[in-house]
Amino acid sequence: MLRLIFSVMLCWLPLSAIEHIEHYEIFTKQYQENDTLFLVSRRFELGGATFYLTTNTQTLQTKVLSLDTSKLMPLDERFLQTPFAKQLSNATASFAKGGATQGVMANDKAIYLTMDLCPSAKKGYESAFIEHLTKQNGKTPIAIALSSAWREHHKKEFEALVKNPLLEITWVNHTHTHFYDPKLPEHQNFMLHKNTDVKSEILGFEKTLLEEGLTPSVFFRFPGLIADEKLMRELKETYFLIPLGANAWIAKNEPIKKGSIILIHGNKNEPQGIAMMQKKLPEVLKTYRFKPIQEAFVK
Ligand SMILES: [Zn+2]
Repeated sequence: MLRLIFSVMLCWLPLSAIEHIEHYEIFTKQYQENDTLFLVSRRFELGGATFYLTTNTQTLQTKVLSLDTSKLMPLDERFLQTPFAKQLSNATASFAKGGATQGVMANDKAIYLTMDLCPSAKKGYESAFIEHLTKQNGKTPIAIALSSAWREHHKKEFEALVKNPLLEITWVNHTHTHFYDPKLPEHQNFMLHKNTDVKSEILGFEKTLLEEGLTPSVFFRFPGLIADEKLMRELKETYFLIPLGANAWIAKNEPIKKGSIILIHGNKNEPQGIAMMQKKLPEVLKTYRFKPIQEAFVK
């Protein structure tokens, strides 16, 4: 039986913690607890102690834990049989749409709301829409694809989102810098730019989030939804992150269907998408329910 010294899922450090994470790195192991296999994907030091980022391969929930290292084993075929490994493999099989575009579970009512926070010179965020949404829908599960670069220049806005008791947030990695140059063609842009440091884009974001006392999820969203085969392979084999595309990018007038992963922008860069979503909301809520993004992939 594994001895877990402590585990607090949502906010594992007080927000006021000033200490910095050191030696944040990829560290790949598995361990079994009761009937469940857990993936260990990162290791870091904080205040002289070692911590691990872990994923429950049945529920896709992540936790930061202190672990008894004698129980950690290399990944084996048991890992490949888990729901997490299967969904990771499916979602990274094609780069065309940036990952999974809809839920795979047979739930006729479920839809999944994702909101991107790409870097933006605009002040504020779509706070009026969030208020409108939670007034109509009550407590709402939402996957927020955050870039460190947005958070760096929107500290008050970020804090307001974190502290909103009506949002059930899953934090999605939308990279550290979210490189974009409007003058470059797509195949040289976003993470396909020749100078992209994939490791620092992915780990840099996670470290930023952890230092806020928040836990990164197993989900990733490619900036611009632009990827290639090599990046998909790295997500699957090195980083263990499920890429999220979308089949209902609201500003592009894509309709919301059963199981849709919905995409809106919360950084005020795409107000037409927000206006359209707000208009659709009463009708959408007659048929569908917003569900946590994990439920798009597992029961
Ligand atoms: Zn973006």
